[in-house]
Amino acid sequence: MTQKQVAVIGGGVVGVCTAYFLAAAGHEVSVIERHQNVAQEASFANAGVIASGFATPWAPPGVPAKMLSYLFGSEAPVMLKPTFDRALWRWVRRWMNESELDRYRINRDRIHRIVFYSRDILRQLRDYYQLEYEQTQGVLQLFRTEKDMKSAEPAIALLAESDVPHQLLDADGARAIEPALAPHTALAGGLYMPQDEAGNCPLFAKRMKQIASSIGVQFHFASEVQAIEPESRGVGLQIDDKKFSADAIVLAAGADSVPLLKALGIHLPLYPVKGYSATALIKNFDQAPQAALLDEAYKVAITRMGNRIRVSGTADFASRESELLDRAIRTLVKVGYDWFPDAANYANATFWSGASSMLPDGPPLLGATPIRNVFVNIGHGSSGWAMAAGSGKVVADIVSGYAPEIDMDGLTMTRYG
Ligand SMILES: Cc1cc2nc3c(=O)[nH]c(=O)nc-3n(C[C@H](O)[C@H](O)[C@H](O)COP(=O)(O)OP(=O)(O)OC[C@H]3O[C@@H](n4cnc5c(N)ncnc54)[C@H](O)[C@@H]3O)c2cc1C
Repeated sequence: MTQKQVAVIGGGVVGVCTAYFLAAAGHEVSVIERHQNVAQEASFANAGVIASGFATPWAPPGVPAKMLSYLFGSEAPVMLKPTFDRALWRWVRRWMNESELDRYRINRDRIHRIVFYSRDILRQLRDYYQLEYEQTQGVLQLFRTEKDMKSAEPAIALLAESDVPHQLLDADGARAIEPALAPHTALAGGLYMPQDEAGNCPLFAKRMKQIASSIGVQFHFASEVQAIEPESRGVGLQIDDKKFSADAIVLAAGADSVPLLKALGIHLPLYPVKGYSATALIKNFDQAPQAALLDEAYKVAITRMGNRIRVSGTADFASRESELLDRAIRTLVKVGYDWFPDAANYANATFWSGASSMLPDGPPLLGATPIRNVFVNIGHGSSGWAMAAGSGKVVADIVSGYAPEIDMDGLTMTRYG
């Protein structure tokens, strides 16, 4: 392998992992990040779930039928509002086309390939560096009604098909796993995924930043890349009012990768989708969750992070700004009180919103672009934390000229022609 000077644009969890693996492979690496620290955008206060079993395409079969209710439901997990944003409607149409069962299976297999690999790589990093990032083991999906449980049957059958360890539980079984679940909230049963995990994504990213720095990665904060300029031998970057050259660059700028790629003539259906979280201090540890849960009806995750609980959910297609929509916040507070009412004061939680960059089919885009020496690590959607370690390793391998350890079919830009 020839040692290269590589610039990684973006210091989210994906960029930090990429930089680490590039440096570990022997390259000279710089991370260019517009904030003052790593993990300040989508990676900042996400749900933290590393749900290999639940990481599936965003368009499960049946989505088209639900779209109308999402337009009008006040507690709908997806927020859409009538808008003339043609890019959004084009994206929604492509997204719905992906909900056909055959497409769903293909996309799900691609997602699983990178998520399972990523979980292994994360465990290796954790063991090797003795990382602590408030990790918990096991994820419990909650079904409020028999109807919810029935609708999950096809997804559960697919889990069996993919050999993902799981246990279908009745209400007592679910309460045995999470004894503090409120008795007054209707619970038909649960699906337990013992091998899934959760953890504090920004804490992990900060630890990985220290480790990456210790093996030579240079972090340039408060530096915004304005343009990528291909050069005869490498790639130029316009960073604020300065020029910077590298042999290769990896774009890991999340939702803001789109304008940088567009200027290079690369048009991708990458759309920013806002999500919300509420993080509250635990006031009563006996009444708190032990690990991570997913409320299927509201598509809301409840995660235990050390002495805090995080409730997280909602896919908001309606607004991009950092505005916190009351409707989304109300749903998070409600779900927190529904399941663990005495654990925390959710109404006084710290509320946050962030935008994940979503492709309509689901799998991320990893590796080469049509422009020489320009690589991407983008489009991880709602599973970017679960995919970060593996995506970083795969992209570092590709930049180094090595064959990745997983089959890359359907995980590269060639799927968009
Ligand atoms: C509410 C919510 C809950 C979520 N829950 C989960 C979950 O449970 N499990 C899971 O796996 N995933 C989850 N996700 C998704 C996950 O958080 C993201 O997929 C992941 O953080 C993406 O990481 P990233 O590094 O690609 O993006 P980001 O963290 O957004 O990082 C991109 C970075 O690039 C920088 N940047 C952008 N443009 C430029 C530029 N021009 N110059 C310099 N820097 C630039 C930004 O400042 C930013 O720091 C959730 C997301 C949200 C919003």
